[in-house]
Amino acid sequence: HNYTRKEIMELVEDEDVGFIRLQFTDIYGTMKNMAVTVSQLKKAMDNKCMFDASPIRDFPGAGESDLYLYPDLNTFEIFPWRPQQGKVARLICDIHCSDGTPCESDPRQVLKKVLSEAAEMGYTMKAGPECEFFLFHTDEDGLPTTLTHEQGGYFDVGPLDFGENARRDMVLTLEEMGFVIESSYHENAPAQHEIDFQFDEALTTADNIMTFRMVVKTIAKRHGLHATFMPKPRTETAGSGMHLNLSLHRDGKNIFRDDSDKNGISREAYYFMGGLLKHMQAITCITNPTVNSYKRLVPGFEAPVYRGWSASTRSPLLRIPPVRGEHARIELRSPDSSANPYLALAVLLSAGLDGIRGQILPPEGIDKNIQAMTDAERSALQIEKLPANLGEAVRELEQDSYIQAALGKKLASDIIAARKQEYKEYCLQVTDWEIANYLYKV
Ligand code: GLU
Ligand code: MG
Ligand code: MG
Repeated sequence: HNYTRKEIMELVEDEDVGFIRLQFTDIYGTMKNMAVTVSQLKKAMDNKCMFDASPIRDFPGAGESDLYLYPDLNTFEIFPWRPQQGKVARLICDIHCSDGTPCESDPRQVLKKVLSEAAEMGYTMKAGPECEFFLFHTDEDGLPTTLTHEQGGYFDVGPLDFGENARRDMVLTLEEMGFVIESSYHENAPAQHEIDFQFDEALTTADNIMTFRMVVKTIAKRHGLHATFMPKPRTETAGSGMHLNLSLHRDGKNIFRDDSDKNGISREAYYFMGGLLKHMQAITCITNPTVNSYKRLVPGFEAPVYRGWSASTRSPLLRIPPVRGEHARIELRSPDSSANPYLALAVLLSAGLDGIRGQILPPEGIDKNIQAMTDAERSALQIEKLPANLGEAVRELEQDSYIQAALGKKLASDIIAARKQEYKEYCLQVTDWEIANYLYKV
């Protein structure tokens, strides 16, 4: 959409909109919003709506607590699940300081900054996510559990698939909000699902990921279920990933395409992969930012564990899907939905651009299942592991000044401090596993 102020005013009038949610995303990837009534819409579109940011964790720095919401008019959308009289619409906002400068802790503007660097080189980035999630039961109090009685697996259908009605409702709601849904299905683990929507410009895709999560959780709740994007909610089954498909475009053409290459991708695409692999350890702290993220990145569940790329195997870190022509792209399989999508796309694009500027070629592709190799085979091929836990990932980010610069110094140091603290707290916990294994025996 490309809305003018006038069109927004008309839409609000015609559609009987009563409330406007002014949305943004905090540095941890949580959506926040402030609602205003239509009487305040003009003021909102004049960028005059202010809020006190100090209660929001690490957002922004202490001392400048009054921030302004600058709505992006192109993000106007009505929530189909709210009342149809006095409807609720939303506008996604950028955050600015009182002097008008962009707030450096606003993830959306971090992505915009990297996108403008790409634009200077003549590039735009398109991105398409594959979001997986679980639908669990709620208990008598309506609280989420990790329970399901379902035994469905990959591509199963009802009645084995208990989520079919909820998923149908999610897809229809998303379509009503302008999403193009390419597929939806039961994933590998019991109660695990995937809904794939069409790729778009990176900024739109990041906005769409945030909207998608909200819709999935909201509709699940209406069906008495709890939707979770937690990377690994159950030890014994697969976790949920958020694979990201990426391509660069110039003058409307996909420059990752090269039909003469054996994998169908261009030199720029290989350099982009080279840049991703160069910075992958630090990037992982952004694409896999929680303690739980690393419980997913283990062998045996189609999630990547090692650093490498392939055009022929299913579950390497970087995959070149077997599509050719205008849809040529690379797929990164490590990210999960605990990531802030704006920051994830920002660091990925930034690393890719570093690869292009430095003409960094990735190592040879690996057309064997890396996870099935022995340690000796892997070390002969110099295949390294992704960070094994959040503690390692934070240390990697601390050592990569390029990725820190892409995030912005202050945001990077806030993230590093917060994730360090989180990992430290986690390490202090005495877990059920320890009690089960040591309490009686020791
Ligand atoms: N659930 C797997 C993961 O954790 C991915 C399965 C798939 O290939 O879609 O990444
Ligand atoms: Mg999947
Ligand atoms: Mg995939």
